[in-house]
Amino acid sequence: MSDKITKTDAEWREQLTDEQYRVTRQHGTERAGSHPGFPKEAGTFTCVCCGAPLFEQDTKYESHCGWPSFYAPKAKEVVEMSRDESHGMQRIEVHCAKCEAHLGHIFPDGPQPTGLRYCINGVALDFQPD
Ligand SMILES: [Zn+2]
Repeated sequence: MSDKITKTDAEWREQLTDEQYRVTRQHGTERAGSHPGFPKEAGTFTCVCCGAPLFEQDTKYESHCGWPSFYAPKAKEVVEMSRDESHGMQRIEVHCAKCEAHLGHIFPDGPQPTGLRYCINGVALDFQPD
């Protein structure tokens, strides 16, 4: 994609809170259940770093895993995946296609129609009501 956003570390640090920076730019993970949650109204979840629309309210579901969970991104091209073998685990990491913000991980235990669980850090997301 040609419209990638690249900023220096200092620019991200200035724009983001410490926790947003730690999670999105340093592949951190927020503590399970630490995010206060999002409104239930119709709307779009956007990247906290660049504002790209990432997930829709109607693909969000209650997985009880301690993080916001979705079964599909808003569009296939808005997120990218990579292998993450940190912490001795083999996981699929998911990040914003536009600015490479780390969002969370994908697990194969989600509901249909995808069977996937996009397990996303709440601090990596903003919510825009429709
Ligand atoms: Zn982004």
